[in-house]
Amino acid sequence: MSNKKILIVEDDADVRLGYQVLLKANGYDTFFAADAISAISEARKQMPDLIILDLGLPAGDGHVVLERLRGAINLDLGAIPVVVVSGRDLRGNKERALKGGAKAFLQKPWDDDELLSLIARLLGQPDIYGQPGAIPVWELEDPAVESPDR
Ligand code: CA
Repeated sequence: MSNKKILIVEDDADVRLGYQVLLKANGYDTFFAADAISAISEARKQMPDLIILDLGLPAGDGHVVLERLRGAINLDLGAIPVVVVSGRDLRGNKERALKGGAKAFLQKPWDDDELLSLIARLLGQPDIYGQPGAIPVWELEDPAVESPDR
């Protein structure tokens, strides 16, 4: 069985390394883009199973990347699940990202188990990381649902 492919869009090299170590250790193949323009070209090239997207990026922010993915002529590209992981203020950005088509929004610094759990569920894999009380993905898809305090 081939590994699932995850494209990480992140301009901070240290953060990219953090993702790489975590995701490779958990059996995912990782690809990277460091700005909004190469995010789209890499997504086209790799057709990843999932995209992790930062919001603060050079050459257009993560919201722009979401818009371009959703507006892509290639519908397969627009269907790739996107998890936004950002250090930006939750208010406004979370709602905007989810309305823009992101499946979930995590704040930096992310919790490894929470991120792995989300990824597994979005890829339809067994969630061996899930903690009791973790928020189901389908609830995260609805911007009107507020996350309980964690
Ligand atoms: Ca950034």
